[in-house]
This record gives sequence, structure tokens and C-alpha cells, in this order.
Amino acid sequence: MKMRVDKFLTTTATATRSEASRAARQGRILVNDVPCKNASAQIDPDVDVVTFDGEVVVYSRYVYILLNKPAGYVSATEDGRDKTVLELLPEKLRGIGLFPCGRLDKNTLGVMLLTNNGDLGHKLLSPRYHVTKTYRYRAESPLSPEDIERLENGVTILDGYLTKPAKVSPYADLFEGEISITEGKYHQIKLMFEAVGNKITALERITFGPLVEDPTLGRGEWRYLTEEEVHLLENHCNKRESI
Ligand code: URA
Repeated sequence: MKMRVDKFLTTTATATRSEASRAARQGRILVNDVPCKNASAQIDPDVDVVTFDGEVVVYSRYVYILLNKPAGYVSATEDGRDKTVLELLPEKLRGIGLFPCGRLDKNTLGVMLLTNNGDLGHKLLSPRYHVTKTYRYRAESPLSPEDIERLENGVTILDGYLTKPAKVSPYADLFEGEISITEGKYHQIKLMFEAVGNKITALERITFGPLVEDPTLGRGEWRYLTEEEVHLLENHCNKRESI
């Protein structure tokens, strides 16, 4: 499959289209060791070796980002009022169809996957694929053993919806702990705590399926997923398909 050099560089999130044109004119793009002065030249990504500023660009059709979401950003690609998580990414990652895989509230922190792989992204969000998400919470009051049992067995939220089984692991300070769920209704954890007469005061997602929080990422920082992490996500979906 042939594609233009600038398309190759935007798809791999190496450069924006205008950066690619400029870099081509400046001789900073090589195709098979030969400077490529025209960003509209055609290449075959499976055969040709492209270097950008001396670095070989590995072709991948999709981009996968792990973001440590800070407070104050909404999980959307566009919003008339609030800043979106996309605004935490550099320009070259803005126009390539990335979307947040799942919604964290504006004040919820932590692990967020962004991808432009619509098929995988939608599977990971579908209830059929049972992706486990674990959250660290802080509540207004300590959870009693009865509250924990109710949260784990299912509580009624949103017009009579009964939540699926969850796992609650309180910390020694019973105001705090971890809760794992396999679904993602809007404000689900907050509503579950309200259903047992409590209130969430802080919430941070620490896992999303096989992805776990990366302590090297500060709030608002991001990195590309490793190949292994992408495989783990794909395997999770493939396994569910064969069940
Ligand atoms: N549950 C919530 O209440 N909020 C989130 O952001 C995620 C899960």
C-alpha cells in the first residue's frame, strides 16, 4: 500500500503536515537514505525506510496514548466550555482522530487511554468485553462491612439500574480504598457510594484493563503505550471474543 510521505509522518504522529513539508524542504527526511525533498512523494511503509531528523520512523497504523489525567479537563475531543484532555497533547497528536477511551469526570484523575483505533476503542468500552477498571477513592465517611457487601453485590443507581458485581478493598484508613468495576455508567462510582449513603470526595483511576498507572507520569503527562501494552489490550478483546 503506497502513501504520501506527509501522510506517513502524520499517521505515525511524527510531525504535523506543515512540519513534514518544511522538514522535506530542509532535507531532514530520508527515504532509503536519500533525502526526500517533496512531502507529497509516495512511499510504501512496509518496504521503504523513512528517517526523520536522523531517527527511523516505525510505521504503525494507530496511535495509543497513556495519559495521567489531571483535574479540570473533560474527557471529550471538543467542548465549547471546558478544556479537553486532547489539549494536553502536542499539536502533532491533535488532528489524527484520537479519542478518550471512556469518560472520567472533570475532577477524576488518573489512567486514561486515548487511541484512534476505533474498533479496539469501542470494544474496550463495550460491556460485552468486561474491562475491569480500578479506582482509588476517598469517601466522606468510612465504609462499613455492610456497605462493602452492598457495593460488591450491586446497588441500584440511575432509574433502577442494578450495578454488576464489584470488588472493594478498603485501606487501613477506612475512608480510603480501591474499588474495581467492569462497567462504566456515567458517574458510576459516585452514584454507587451515594446509594449506600456516602459520598466520594476524591477519585483516581489506577487501572484500565491491563493498563496500570505509570508512576513516572506526572499529572497531565502522557506517553505512547509500549508494544506489549497494545498486545495486552488486543489479547483482552480477542479472548473475550472466543468465550
Ligand atoms: N465513576 C465516577 O463516578 N466518576 C468517574 O470519573 C469514573 C467512574
